[in-house]
Amino acid sequence: MQDDIIIVGAGPAGLSLANSLAGHGLSIALVERQSLEQLEAPEFDGREIALTHRSVGILNGLSVWPELAAEAAPMREARVLNGASPFALTFDSGQAIEGLLGWLVPNHAIRRALYRAVLSRPDVRIVTGAEAAAVHTRASGAELRLRDGRSLRGRLLVAADSRMSAVRDMLGISAHIRRTGRAMLVCRMEHDGDHARTATEWFDHGQTLALLPLNGRMSSAVITLPSHEAERLMALGTEAFEAEMERRFAHRMGRMRLASSRHLYPLTITWSRHFAATRAALVGDAAVGMHPVTAHGFNLGLLGQHGLARQVLRAARRGGDPGAEGPLKRYEALHRLACRPLYDATNALVALYTRESPVARLARPAVLRLGQRLPLARRGIGALLAQR
Ligand SMILES: Cc1cc2nc3c(=O)[nH]c(=O)nc-3n(C[C@H](O)[C@H](O)[C@H](O)COP(=O)(O)OP(=O)(O)OC[C@H]3O[C@@H](n4cnc5c(N)ncnc54)[C@H](O)[C@@H]3O)c2cc1C
Repeated sequence: MQDDIIIVGAGPAGLSLANSLAGHGLSIALVERQSLEQLEAPEFDGREIALTHRSVGILNGLSVWPELAAEAAPMREARVLNGASPFALTFDSGQAIEGLLGWLVPNHAIRRALYRAVLSRPDVRIVTGAEAAAVHTRASGAELRLRDGRSLRGRLLVAADSRMSAVRDMLGISAHIRRTGRAMLVCRMEHDGDHARTATEWFDHGQTLALLPLNGRMSSAVITLPSHEAERLMALGTEAFEAEMERRFAHRMGRMRLASSRHLYPLTITWSRHFAATRAALVGDAAVGMHPVTAHGFNLGLLGQHGLARQVLRAARRGGDPGAEGPLKRYEALHRLACRPLYDATNALVALYTRESPVARLARPAVLRLGQRLPLARRGIGALLAQR
């Protein structure tokens, strides 16, 4: 069977792309290795996604924001602290739009809402329990073979199968992959203190901590540690875990109680050498696997799929080929330009605040104070957080 577009991976990026492309006369196959039941009812995975204004605009355009808004927690302010120093670099709502820097939305809610939207699109067929095994692309078309022996043909093949993308490898596209040796533990915690809708990030010695404000006296606690330390924390009983979290967060929020399951994410950062090839494109984490510390992975994924859909639909509207080289090259050039500065800035920030060399330790407070004194830099970061 021949489709116009084959998307591998029904995560947030693949689901968004299927929604963006639907309704324009193209036939779309969305291939996912998870079962139908898993797609229908994704489980809580600990991630609370900080969405920028621009991302909310894209999700609104896909008609999924009204469902997500009911679960979203608004974020008014963000603060960055270094070690025990009381000095904080702040980004307040004065630098934001309509008094808000952005929203926090659970990742599983995003997946669920996007999946429900796809269900209402008759031109998207979802192939579940299907794992990509081999791809073959040439000027005349793309072919995807699945592990169960089935095969799909299309005019454009899109890899949306995450940062360790197997499809990217099968396409022969290399990627810069950095395993940091660190892992991020995430969970919800109730606390006595009031977060005042402020997200706080502490760059501490040997650990990075963040509290992201959810509704009520609850936050998403995010703690980045060397992998073995994070695994030890995961294995602690509830009482011991809560006591250790209170200590690590220096009792800033008073008593802290575990309010969800705990989830561990090994930190691997990836940058694909190409975002497009003959009859193929990469979106989401398959293109850029950001370090989560600046909360931009899905925001960039949304932006990328939006850009790719625009190029593909423009070509199709003119009666052209949706998998032609020109639109794919334009998508690649524009999306690389949008991602590279954020990717480099995030990695520089991580390097500065995780290295224990004397130079890095001396530079940390100076960089925060410089950021506060340079209104342009501060406004620039504030605007980045609040992108339309
Ligand atoms: C702790 C944490 C916090 C984060 N916080 C934020 C944040 O605040 N803001 C933000 O913007 N981003 C954040 N991110 C990043 C964000 O979660 C990711 O960028 C986003 O989920 C990537 O979506 P994706 O669809 O590209 O990949 P995924 O969500 O990984 O989905 C990939 C899909 O492809 C399927 N798949 C994989 N291989 C195959 C195959 N061979 N065949 C078929 N199917 C396959 C998988 O089953 C999966 O469904 C965070 C990440 C983490 C880990």
